[in-house]
Amino acid sequence: MQTGIEIEPLEPLPEDWERALCVVAHPDDMEFGGAAAVARWTAQGKQVAYCMVTSGEAGIDGMAPDECRVVREAEQVESARIVGVPEVEFLHQPDGILEYGVPLRREIAAVVRRYRPEIVVTSNFRDTWGGVNLNQADHVATGRAVVDAVRDAGNRWIFTEQLVDGLEPWGGVRAVWAFGSPQATHAVDITDTFDLGVQSLEAHRAYIDGLGWEHWDGREFLEGFSRPVGQRMGVAFGAPFEVFPMGWGG
Ligand SMILES: [Zn+2]
Repeated sequence: MQTGIEIEPLEPLPEDWERALCVVAHPDDMEFGGAAAVARWTAQGKQVAYCMVTSGEAGIDGMAPDECRVVREAEQVESARIVGVPEVEFLHQPDGILEYGVPLRREIAAVVRRYRPEIVVTSNFRDTWGGVNLNQADHVATGRAVVDAVRDAGNRWIFTEQLVDGLEPWGGVRAVWAFGSPQATHAVDITDTFDLGVQSLEAHRAYIDGLGWEHWDGREFLEGFSRPVGQRMGVAFGAPFEVFPMGWGG
């Protein structure tokens, strides 16, 4: 249909890979835009693991961090299970006050070296979600640390203390993909796995209740941003990704 409005098309992401590692700041980050894509990939037989930099323990106003941490880790494990992800690692860094820097890169590089993924996924780490909707500080710190840690992981002279008991450098990451980026050039068709994405988000029940957003509906929310993305790739629902190539000459 000719709408008269130029919409910029989004390229489908490549699917010729076997292992992905998703590194995000908080439980619930994957579910606000990435989980349905993960469900598609695991349905194709790919292996996907999650790594949470924090446990989101500062995320519920009415619940103290020590209790909140336990609740949110359990919700994240269930949420991952729904989209075919059996493994969730928690790095237990401090929620809300993450700092970009060498210590964070070290933590993430260790996970990349152990898991040896071809693709690393993180959430949008641009300053905004588009327009003046500011991104959150932990997301920005995490994403910047992820792209650097992927390079660190491949260099045997960086974080040498990790290279014991047979652990080797890993330079096999082809790209970092950041979902939800306002500068997305690619997308994943999530039409068939959209419902799993919704279920995966709804698994964060205590968190969603804790937000206290009246009449908020996870399905409606996800539809609201998946539909325009889908339009840009000619499908019902899509998830947008910005692509950062990590290999040389790739
Ligand atoms: Zn978050």
